Amino acid sequence: MVFLSKHSPITIPDIGVAELIFENRNNIPDDKPILLDAHSTRVITFGQFKQNVLQFAAGLQDHCDFQPGDVLAICAPNKVDYPVALLGAIAAGGTVSPANPAYTVKELTHQLSLAKAKVILCGQENVQVVLEAAEKCGLKKTNIFVFGEEAVQGVQPYSQVLLFGRRLPAPVKISNPSDQLSYMCFSSGTTGLSKGVMSTHANINSGILQTDTVLAPHMRASKDRILGVIPFFHIFGLVVNVHMSLFWGLPMTVMSKFDLPLFCNVVQTNKISFSCLVPPILVLLAKHPIVDQYDLSSLRTVVSGAAPLSSDLANDVRTRLPHCRVIQGYGLTETSPVVTIGDLNHPVEGSSGILVPNMSVKIVNEEGQEVGTNERGELWCKGPNIMKGYINNPEATADCLDAEGYFHTGDIAIVDEQGNFSIVDRIKELIKYKGFQVPPAELEGILLTSPMVADCAVIGVYDAAQATELPRAYVVLQPATQQSPVVAKELIDYVSTKVVQYKRLRGGIRFVDAVPKSPSGKLLRRVIKDWVKDEEKIT
Ligand code: AMP
Repeated sequence: MVFLSKHSPITIPDIGVAELIFENRNNIPDDKPILLDAHSTRVITFGQFKQNVLQFAAGLQDHCDFQPGDVLAICAPNKVDYPVALLGAIAAGGTVSPANPAYTVKELTHQLSLAKAKVILCGQENVQVVLEAAEKCGLKKTNIFVFGEEAVQGVQPYSQVLLFGRRLPAPVKISNPSDQLSYMCFSSGTTGLSKGVMSTHANINSGILQTDTVLAPHMRASKDRILGVIPFFHIFGLVVNVHMSLFWGLPMTVMSKFDLPLFCNVVQTNKISFSCLVPPILVLLAKHPIVDQYDLSSLRTVVSGAAPLSSDLANDVRTRLPHCRVIQGYGLTETSPVVTIGDLNHPVEGSSGILVPNMSVKIVNEEGQEVGTNERGELWCKGPNIMKGYINNPEATADCLDAEGYFHTGDIAIVDEQGNFSIVDRIKELIKYKGFQVPPAELEGILLTSPMVADCAVIGVYDAAQATELPRAYVVLQPATQQSPVVAKELIDYVSTKVVQYKRLRGGIRFVDAVPKSPSGKLLRRVIKDWVKDEEKIT
């Protein structure tokens, strides 16, 4: 059985992403403030934004010989200029690969080399890491820029170099939006290490227009104000925060990282009405005493995404902030990003909402049969927002995109008779810590480089208090090493030195005699997950 979106189909224009924003369908006046800095008084109006985008595009061409198809990697925390750089590279006909600014040299090198980045834009905080990673990839220092006005460690300031001089007359025309790439975010997909997700211009335009169809009827052009706090390098922040605020022309206050008092202060002062958040932030909104010291009554709509939101938590937030509607969106980097989103008129508790326009879905059980309503199965989806594939990885692409065009998500879902979807489990390897991707294969690879480890498996264990999964390793030690808390700590620390902070083994280490494997040697993570359930029953 194929489930179709209840929304009427929409037309995806045959243009590039920058062209869609510049088309200005919502008649945004040039003097409307569109980007506000939460950490300074800087404000960028829509007119200035467009000029800066066209200047940045020309700057890339003139200083870096940036050609259509070239890749700019942005490796920086959220900044008020971040959207300028995104759309600037896109307006030059290029592709942007946004990276986590907290990445280690190894993690960043992996992304830069897979994406074949030609130019890098970084934050003042991570210049050293970027320099080292760029050197490993053979990237010229003159093609590295740092956000701000000042040079850092000899790296040129973006505003002094790229925002000066010539301006393109208009964004470069994208001749084949269904094929040419706009963004390349990274995701581990169903298995293995992180991979470059090829999102075409048509994919991202679909994501924008699908989200618009569902949310625009509830947005008020004259009043709504958006908070940009979730990371812009992740597809949720990239599309649902950055591109939606530019498309709607609604002012977005940009926070470079989450900090609860600052968050509350910005909501109160800037009268924020709309925000995309992740469940661990909602825990704080529901429970932290400091929230009572602020007037958050302007906050009318919160879209929770990137990880499951429990009904209890959503209810706790509603009780604390009765004026605020909390809906859930479900999606993936590979789906640009939204597949389902809660209906603001008829929110259904515990559900991730209904299909966005132009999406069709099959729910497929373990026997490979399509099932109907109220039956569990893997969610397969098809639509104009489904990625083109993983860069230079036809095997991984073929594993998740079938001949009919359905993308196999690795998530287990149930649909009710009204078309409300609930995501109830995940069969792929992926662990999510506070909405961030933690590929278990990466942590297993690192653990296996320790002389103490003979074999291992990493899984996610759910921590309800923090509303997130925590990565935990099941380790078989080499015969010469004795199990002890000291050894466990050494291994946890060993991993911590090699990965970005959110990939640390916060779920601890369990020593085992063997990790469960199938006769063909495949790791049976399901069995370990059952051990965790048994452990929970005992405690
Ligand atoms: P990412 O590509 O980082 O956005 O991760 C996508 C994965 O996050 C999905 O395949 C799900 O496993 C998980 N996810 C995203 N949104 C939700 C949601 N609303 N409920 C449950 N899981 C979610």
